[in-house]
Amino acid sequence: MNGAGAGAKGVGMTRRPQLGAYVYPWDVDGDPAAADRLAALGVRRACVAAAYHAVRALTPRHPHHKVVTADRSAVYFPLDPARWSSADRLRPVEAAWSWHSFGPAVTALNDAGVEVYAWTILAHNDGLGLREPEATVVNAYGDRYPWALCIAQEQVQRHCATLAAEAASQPGLAGVELESCGWYGFDHLHAHDKSAGVLLPPSAKLLFSLCFCPACQDAYREAGADPARLRADVRAALDPVFAGTADDAHLPDEQSGAVARMRTAIATRLRERAVSAVRAERPDLPVLLHAHPDPLACGASPGLPPETAHALADAPVLLCPTRSDAALDAVRAYAGNGRRVVATVAAVQGLGADPSDLTAWCADLTDAGATELRFYHPGLASATDLEAMRKATAALR
Ligand SMILES: [Zn+2]
Repeated sequence: MNGAGAGAKGVGMTRRPQLGAYVYPWDVDGDPAAADRLAALGVRRACVAAAYHAVRALTPRHPHHKVVTADRSAVYFPLDPARWSSADRLRPVEAAWSWHSFGPAVTALNDAGVEVYAWTILAHNDGLGLREPEATVVNAYGDRYPWALCIAQEQVQRHCATLAAEAASQPGLAGVELESCGWYGFDHLHAHDKSAGVLLPPSAKLLFSLCFCPACQDAYREAGADPARLRADVRAALDPVFAGTADDAHLPDEQSGAVARMRTAIATRLRERAVSAVRAERPDLPVLLHAHPDPLACGASPGLPPETAHALADAPVLLCPTRSDAALDAVRAYAGNGRRVVATVAAVQGLGADPSDLTAWCADLTDAGATELRFYHPGLASATDLEAMRKATAALR
């Protein structure tokens, strides 16, 4: 195992990565010790949720609460009414359970010497989709995905760009990080999920995530596919998987090509728009995009190949939770030529991390070309997890 057992000075890297961490605003707001505790971990950058989806989060060290329940997507800063009109049906919601906690968290972290990026979730939204179902992805069977706004729609693109710009406008920031800036689909990490009875292979998951709303139907036509025919073929490909008579689901090549062109063009348009909106607001801030090397991946880290990622934004953020060849390959694919590449590393054992491998895994990601590492995440972590993060940062600095 590369780098395994590496001591504090023995990780063998030629470069030192920037070290950062994700936290929720409620991890810091109201806890006078939180910012210094984060700084003491050895991280110099915090990604603080500015607009975030529903979550049930433990806050083990907070003096005033131990669990925060966000029952829907919300923003943690005061909305600027001038940016959102009554005609905007997808107007964000302010978080009643952690009222305007972003600003105080940013101030406390900056005071502790930690710079802050606004961590902003775009197309994945729990709440707006229930209120405005026509704005969501609708699959080939006609089922709505209320957690997934359909980015082919103008109202969704406008919502995402406006939200990104408003997050960027908050005081005290050093950067903006856009998650779910692309297609969202069937996969949805949800507390009460009962959807694993039939395990869908990636090919089927993509087809099950294709949207057939009016905007998508227009876009399929523009890409050269007849939407009614496509929808029938998607169902014909998925039906045997659900019936247990096939392991895989594929479209004819011509349709696959049209779907890929359509999905790529729309996701690119969203990213250009969101990144431009941030830069128009704050030209000085770097804009990072959560990315997956598979161009058609959907989810929190949607498909965004290396060349496009570096052309569109200041850096990709890659999900590299625990040791895997795929994660190292992804980092290598995006790295090189002085490019900035951020790798997110799982650091909470209860959420699947391996604290005993944390230092070595971070070193290997750095050797593969990651210029920056982010721990996920100190707010949720146990005392043992925090100690593992401290050891890793001591070895990596
Ligand atoms: Zn759609």
